[in-house]
Amino acid sequence: MTPEEFRRYGREVVDWIADYIERADERPVLSRVAPGEVRSRLPASPPQDAEPFEDVLRDLDDVIMPGITHWQSPGFFAYFSSNSSLPSILGEMLIAGLNVQGMLWQTSPAATELETLVLDWLAEALALPQGFRSTASGGGVIQDTASTSTLCAVIAARERATGGRGNEQGLDGRLTTYASREAHSSVEKAVRVAGIGSANHRRVDVDESFAMRPGHLAELLAADRAEGRRPAFVCATVGTTSSSALDPLREIGELCREHGAWFHVDAAMAGTAALCPEHRYIHDGLELADSYTFNPHKWMLTSLDCSALYVAERSALVNALSLTPEYLRNVASESGEVIDYRDWGIALGRRFRALKLWAVIRSYGVSGLQEVVRRHVALAKEFADWVEADSRFELAAPVPLSLVCFRHRGGDEANQSIMDRVNASGRAYITHTRLNDRLTLRMSIMQERTRREHVQRAWELLREAANEVGVGG
Ligand code: PLP
Repeated sequence: MTPEEFRRYGREVVDWIADYIERADERPVLSRVAPGEVRSRLPASPPQDAEPFEDVLRDLDDVIMPGITHWQSPGFFAYFSSNSSLPSILGEMLIAGLNVQGMLWQTSPAATELETLVLDWLAEALALPQGFRSTASGGGVIQDTASTSTLCAVIAARERATGGRGNEQGLDGRLTTYASREAHSSVEKAVRVAGIGSANHRRVDVDESFAMRPGHLAELLAADRAEGRRPAFVCATVGTTSSSALDPLREIGELCREHGAWFHVDAAMAGTAALCPEHRYIHDGLELADSYTFNPHKWMLTSLDCSALYVAERSALVNALSLTPEYLRNVASESGEVIDYRDWGIALGRRFRALKLWAVIRSYGVSGLQEVVRRHVALAKEFADWVEADSRFELAAPVPLSLVCFRHRGGDEANQSIMDRVNASGRAYITHTRLNDRLTLRMSIMQERTRREHVQRAWELLREAANEVGVGG
């Protein structure tokens, strides 16, 4: 492809994306293809000879699009949203255009310095504790996902607990880790990948709001220490995936201090809410944390992938993850005056993700991002009121932010059937969880383009489906 052809196709692609975003609401939210259907419509072998880019665009429309679930649709209420935004898409184009590999400061000083700056901006916008800023002893780094952010935190905790012996000699099976029963599965996965093992991971009980019970954590920590184990890592969640529960950070953090365990906070979805002063209570006690993660790629309009990881002591992360072969040595790194982000994560190669985050923050301003959070939280409260006013339904958990967990009183089968009907309509997509061992519907209102009319339409679909299921009055 010549640069001239690129200009032509590039304009076509930008128009294609603009049309797609503008009309995302017209497509069935959940893809309707059967397993294997997309692949069966494509050649089994790669083309031997070059094909025109028109053909790629044609197949995109004809074959790929039917197999897309539309995460950018305002009718998307499933899981937690993975928001993009137009400035972020432009940022992604520039990232691909430059395609720098920012493993070292030297391999693109701007990539490193912009990442440090933008994460300091974010720390200020979310009013994170001073210790997490690069101007103090900590700092932020962009990882691909919260799963990786948490894995890095577990590895740093492991090395702190073993005085660096984990990396050198492996583990002796005495380290233990803790998170609530409602924590995301990525926490236990990180514990497995870090070699600590699920058998050494404790699931702490939750209270009636599905938040961790610090009293039970205290018992588990004490019991493990009495048996000669070494509590290394505790993860608290701000905004659990199932129900948006808020673990009590201060009490958990104080227990971590008492027992010398690394305190990590996973706020993958909910962290964005702290852009608004009225929601900052969710971070009460965060100054006790050793690390903190939240995903701008969920609620903060930055395309996948972009997870922010902050640490209070950057040396703990770097000591655990740095390994320097001769071919990476350079004067700038050795001067100690620069950050080499390869030492802050697992992969050596690093995309210039800070560029899209910078584009988003500048294009919306903090006030524009706050507006999105406030709109979603207000819509969730309104939806929760509708649920409460309909005697066939009930709320299944508190609604602190923009996720509403609710269920039909008719039982699991009725709820499954209601969800299937709503999703088959193509006008909305919701998913479920289990709370207190009952199937629970989740209405996650986090899509940038979602307005009241879309939430209202979803509620009407839910009510119609409840009429059709015809249980519980
Ligand atoms: N932590 C929480 C609380 C989440 O809700 C999620 C995903 O929804 C994750 C971690 C995993 O995020 P990621 O896909 O960025 O690894």
